[in-house]
Amino acid sequence: MRATTIHAPGDIRFEEVPDPVIEEPTDAIVKVVAGCICGSDLWPYRGANDIDAGSTIGHECVGVIEEVGSAVKDFKPGDFVIVPFCHCDNTCAHCVAGVQAACENLGFTASGQGEYSRVTQADGSLVKTDGMPDASLIPSLLTLSDVMATGWHAAVSAGVKPGGTTVVIGDGAVGLCGVLAAAQLGAERVVAMSRHEPRQAIARAFGATDIVAERGDEGGARIAELTKGVGADSVLECVGTDESMKTAFAIARPGSTVGFVGVPHGVELPVRRMFQKNVGLAGGMAGVRRYLPDLLERVLSGSIDPGKVFDLTLPMAQSAEGYRAMDERRAIKVLLQP
Ligand SMILES: [Zn+2]
Ligand SMILES: [Zn+2]
Repeated sequence: MRATTIHAPGDIRFEEVPDPVIEEPTDAIVKVVAGCICGSDLWPYRGANDIDAGSTIGHECVGVIEEVGSAVKDFKPGDFVIVPFCHCDNTCAHCVAGVQAACENLGFTASGQGEYSRVTQADGSLVKTDGMPDASLIPSLLTLSDVMATGWHAAVSAGVKPGGTTVVIGDGAVGLCGVLAAAQLGAERVVAMSRHEPRQAIARAFGATDIVAERGDEGGARIAELTKGVGADSVLECVGTDESMKTAFAIARPGSTVGFVGVPHGVELPVRRMFQKNVGLAGGMAGVRRYLPDLLERVLSGSIDPGKVFDLTLPMAQSAEGYRAMDERRAIKVLLQP
């Protein structure tokens, strides 16, 4: 098959690689209908993560089942499925407790920007639609493989509930989905911290009531103003840098929880402030499968349209241009078609 590969920072190629094959009886092979580039793919692209030269990249996709292993009972060739970026059996102690991201049989999508992708633990991981979905729904369904579920996880982890003020730090696709999640979960005021007009517009469409363009101390002062000095009832940290984490704890009201889903890079927690203000930290890698049935229902019923985060669609063969566009912030999120 042909798939997107990474050879070195900034070196993305679309080239011939071995087809993924059934390796375990619980596996399925999915023919990718749409894949996309994730903000977290930019970490290796920018040299912040180690790279296994020539390996496939891309962990977000939807597609049609091509083949299943002998132990797969719930899916058959032809089913349209959403592929969570992390695979789980959905039966072990951690899955049953709702922490599918720590499944005893955890696996990951490895070629979501290629023509085919292998899913380990197909029965536990995948959800299917009733027949082939309308093409207009594909972008929103694709966000369920990661960013929408991750934004939702941030909101759930931060304890967003009806009423109150939620602040979302990060205006990438996950942050924007966090805005949508907070609004869906009933936050009265949803503040998106964003300096970029196109992203602000999507945040508003997703339910943001306020936009704060300032960052750091200035941003903190604006949130203090908006909350009459009390601080935010819940904060979603959707970036993963030390600066964004510091901002999160600076604006979280005493007794609240910061929900974090940005992959941490160089973060030092302000433990003294957390102690003095009784502010907690919860979240981490999203166990996508936990939220999938609910989110799928919300997409199919039209109550959410997270596919708006895609502002550029390219043929998969041009994935390198997709990476450049996201790296240079010319695109929020890039959808790739095989
Ligand atoms: Zn992702
Ligand atoms: Zn499990």
